[in-house]
Amino acid sequence: MAAALLLFLLSYILHPQLEAVALATSSDHDFSYMKSVHSATDLPLEDVYDYIIVGGGTAGCPLAATLSEKYSVLVLERGSTPAAYPQVLNANGMLNNLLQEDDGKTPAQRFVSKDGVKVVRGRILGGTSMLNGGFFSRADDQFYNESGVDWDKDMVEKAYQWVEDTIVFSYNLSTFQSILRKGLLQAGVGPDNGFTLQHLVGTKTSGSTFDDQGRRHGAVELLNKGVLNNLRVAVEAYVERIIFSSSNNASRLSATGVIYKDSKGRTHRAFVKDKGEVILSAGAIGSPQLLLLSGVGPVAHLSSLHIPVVYSNPDVGNFIADNPRNNINIVAVRVSDPNSC
Ligand SMILES: Cc1cc2nc3c(=O)[nH]c(=O)nc-3n(C[C@H](O)[C@H](O)[C@H](O)COP(=O)(O)OP(=O)(O)OC[C@H]3O[C@@H](n4cnc5c(N)ncnc54)[C@H](O)[C@@H]3O)c2cc1C
Repeated sequence: MAAALLLFLLSYILHPQLEAVALATSSDHDFSYMKSVHSATDLPLEDVYDYIIVGGGTAGCPLAATLSEKYSVLVLERGSTPAAYPQVLNANGMLNNLLQEDDGKTPAQRFVSKDGVKVVRGRILGGTSMLNGGFFSRADDQFYNESGVDWDKDMVEKAYQWVEDTIVFSYNLSTFQSILRKGLLQAGVGPDNGFTLQHLVGTKTSGSTFDDQGRRHGAVELLNKGVLNNLRVAVEAYVERIIFSSSNNASRLSATGVIYKDSKGRTHRAFVKDKGEVILSAGAIGSPQLLLLSGVGPVAHLSSLHIPVVYSNPDVGNFIADNPRNNINIVAVRVSDPNSC
């Protein structure tokens, strides 16, 4: 909780000297995306799409919006809509979200890391962006250089702007925030970088997904940038397993669909068309967990949990650590309900 509070405070270390970036203008929440949102109970027991995205969170929502420009897309999110938990929609509700008792449906799923650190992860359409401190910054150069990806920098720039002009804001610092900013500079956390979205050493004022009225504009609002007719978003859709097939070519295993449960406990199957893809964006814990439940992972570990091995990969579920100096290991366990891990 101390880490969450620190992030919350850091998210308000904001403002002055605006750099020339196109940011969003303060506005009411835009719920247009709700035209595409359905309870999983209303979806057919079997259906086919170009793309299936597991997890309608911070990564899943913008990805779904982008793919929907050309393809039919199904997003499967285990949580509810933000409107069902309105306190996720403003800054005043932030601490309540984090402290609220976890009843298995509430937006903050509590869990404890192997070394005893109490943490939360998002369980709501928009994912952890509906709970977090709202601090927005671009990635640092080291991330690009060490990622092993040949980035198209122009596309990266466009992608940042696509997000920034919709859900990233600047706003006036409160007295407390100004004092904190001054304090950091006096303590030698320099240079003073003014306002910038770039990831720089020193003190800076950055963007926020809270507007100047304290309204949270999480990743869920990026769904509005998609082609809503091509987009189907199922909430309270618990993905239990990925369906793999090797029927066309035995040496090449591919994900052809998923099995998910609705809130009435009914099992649904969704499949992708030829050349379609199942994309996991269920979070740093949810995605490997689902691979393990689907039989992809270290053979000994899967066998010890009586999970039939589909594909051996010793790395799945390992190396989950946020900071090399604070090595947090999460234990992967077998569960039938992904909510309970
Ligand atoms: C308290 C807190 C404060 C933070 N503050 C900041 C901040 O200020 N700035 C910042 O940049 N980052 C912050 N972060 C980190 C940031 O929010 C996360 O890194 C980011 O949201 C992760 O995005 P994601 O798409 O990987 O996962 P998520 O946004 O968590 O999305 C995963 C989604 O998948 C769904 N899901 C999981 N399993 C299944 C399943 N089996 N079936 C269906 N759906 C499933 C989940 O319900 C969830 O909605 C904070 C995090 C926390 C916890």
